[in-house]
Amino acid sequence: MVAVSDLHVRFSSGGKVIEAVNGVSLQVGKGEVVALIGESGSGKSVTLRSLMRLHPERSTRIDGRIEIAGRDVMALSKKDLSAFRGPVTSMIFQEPLLAFDPVYTVGQQIIESVRRHRGLSRQAARDVALESLRSVRIPSPEQRLDAYPHEMSGGMRQRAMIALALACQPQLLLADEPTTALDATVQIQILILLRELQRELGLSIIFVTHDIGAAVEVADRVAVMYGGRIVEEAPLGELLRNPCHPYSVALLNARPQGGLRRGERLETIAGSPPDLSRLPPGCAFASRCKHAGEACLAGVPARVQVGSEHFVSCHLFEPTTDQGAAPCPTTP
Ligand code: SF4
Ligand code: MG
Repeated sequence: MVAVSDLHVRFSSGGKVIEAVNGVSLQVGKGEVVALIGESGSGKSVTLRSLMRLHPERSTRIDGRIEIAGRDVMALSKKDLSAFRGPVTSMIFQEPLLAFDPVYTVGQQIIESVRRHRGLSRQAARDVALESLRSVRIPSPEQRLDAYPHEMSGGMRQRAMIALALACQPQLLLADEPTTALDATVQIQILILLRELQRELGLSIIFVTHDIGAAVEVADRVAVMYGGRIVEEAPLGELLRNPCHPYSVALLNARPQGGLRRGERLETIAGSPPDLSRLPPGCAFASRCKHAGEACLAGVPARVQVGSEHFVSCHLFEPTTDQGAAPCPTTP
């Protein structure tokens, strides 16, 4: 469904060049849910937005290849891009108030989007909007159709935004911290809804979060990001059992003992994330890593396979010629 290879995203701002994404490669299968996890500034939202080319073109430079549903996203014309957003891929954001226009009702906005992207008549689009609100389990959808965004609770508004995203029948849903602004109980309801919709519709989802509890609820596979790179990638259970990269280990250790709880957040890790306008020549995590050695300062570690579908980029794991899984010396 998604094949990203060697993605680089640079922004120019105030005479500086921010290297926000530095060689991300990622594949997402049909019906698969992949979570991108990391602290803010790790490049996860920037990666996600690149998939829909949402960055301002004048100040952004994107290199690499992005293929979604067989289409070369970077090569799409403006017109093709508009036809691609919606029916192929839709995005939901942390704050639904920003996705909706406050002066139109929720129904008007879903109907307008469906008409534009699917070319339906007003009546047919209204039926689709209603069905879409029903599918996200919004009670009394007929009445909600005529509600303004500010008349809904945060959780209801997030459901309405998911309805808006799904009304165009996308194959891929991009979700950027969709539950971060919500209360813990509402968060869980939205995560369960996303998982149910994913199964019902066979959707592929890329889910960006700094909240490992949220990833645990929805993800099949996890990619941990740091300094604009994917530093570890593994199926969810494998990552939880056997984290290899010192940053992943720190993330998982930062959670309270006694296992993961729903809605649990990542604690901060001592030190601060790297300045993306002055990335070091070596591993971006070195200044915070207790295992850092000379090799770590000299060069960026290569991606190494350490298990079935388990990859890590860290000098503690050197490429080996045999197929056996390298041990994880940092496993707690
Ligand atoms: Fe730590 Fe070196 Fe691995 Fe970076 S490459 S995470 S500094 S051990
Ligand atoms: Mg973000």
